[in-house]
Amino acid sequence: MARLKKRERQPVVHYPAALDHSEKEFRGTLYGLQHSESNEHNVIAYGLENSDYPPMGVVVTDHVTADVGADQIVGHWENGELLFKKGDQDCEKKPYELIQNIFSRNSGILETSHMLDKKAIIVGCGSVGSFVALELARSGVGSFLLVDNDTLAYHNLCRHQCGLEDVGKFKVNALRRRIQHINPTVKVETHQDILETVSKTTFDAFCTPDTIIIGCADNREGDLYGNKIAHLYKIPFVSIGFWERASAGEVFHYNPEKTPCYHCLFGSSAFAALTQRESTNRRHYTTEEDLSKANFEPGISTDIVFVTTVGVKLVLDLLNQGQEKYTPALLGYLSPFTLVCNNNNPGVGGELVEIFSHPLQVTTSIDVIRDPHCEVCGTPKPEETDVPVETGDAP
Ligand SMILES: [Zn+2]
Repeated sequence: MARLKKRERQPVVHYPAALDHSEKEFRGTLYGLQHSESNEHNVIAYGLENSDYPPMGVVVTDHVTADVGADQIVGHWENGELLFKKGDQDCEKKPYELIQNIFSRNSGILETSHMLDKKAIIVGCGSVGSFVALELARSGVGSFLLVDNDTLAYHNLCRHQCGLEDVGKFKVNALRRRIQHINPTVKVETHQDILETVSKTTFDAFCTPDTIIIGCADNREGDLYGNKIAHLYKIPFVSIGFWERASAGEVFHYNPEKTPCYHCLFGSSAFAALTQRESTNRRHYTTEEDLSKANFEPGISTDIVFVTTVGVKLVLDLLNQGQEKYTPALLGYLSPFTLVCNNNNPGVGGELVEIFSHPLQVTTSIDVIRDPHCEVCGTPKPEETDVPVETGDAP
């Protein structure tokens, strides 16, 4: 029996719906990606001087005389309607409204128009930061400031959201491209250095009441600095860090004027006290010897992502505070300092993991007390006089 020849799929053109309504009937170059295996063709941009994407076709006055390759898409106008052909085949048209289509599945949970105003500073663009950034892009966050001084290496690939073609690139640049693969309208600024070198001018321009700063570098000093920036600009701060082999993770959040800050817990004096405690958390940063092991990067991707997801959900809650239609998932339920357990086998995480009664447990019981004289969020000590500070009686 003769084998049936596989029927070729009709060519499909995905294109921005705005082209249909373009004034004076647009003519010019189409940029995007063509997939011969499916015969689907994705117009991502049109009518630009330059595009990040290759030319894939044209819209012309008369398709019969168009001088293009047989694999190119040729658009032409007929009685005010835009039609596409590939070779002599008519194409199926699939117009898209970029923002509406990308975020249609978030509808009813996250308000896209509101999320697009939101801005995130991602401090550290490794396994944690790359995941946080892409999740926030998927949630509709419209602007990013990416901070990291490192390039992507082969040993990053098993945990990073970027891939093989990004090895050797600065992580901030590789990640920018991935963010814009989800939403090309996102504005991404990059800073190829550590947070402490970001200028005040940059923060002044980027920080608005819609901004959040997220410490993703698993670095206590960097987090203390991020916390200071958050306090200065009155924006929320979230830090995500890990215990050995990501057996557990820590998610801290600071909501200015509402909760104690990171410095209240981990600032110099409090931190010094904490390092004396056997029950201290975050084991590999607790002593000088342990600090030297800070280059040891623990954990497999799935454990990192599990803890980081808790951080991302908290970030979404913080970004949507006061939004009438938004239902917070975690804010108000978690304490400012939350531990998330991945594995409570002491053989993996040390004896500290025994504080969890079962794996995948999220603690809600750790109290963080505001330090009234915290050098970041506290009120400065009054001059040493004997004048009592008025406390005021409750009515
Ligand atoms: Zn404080």
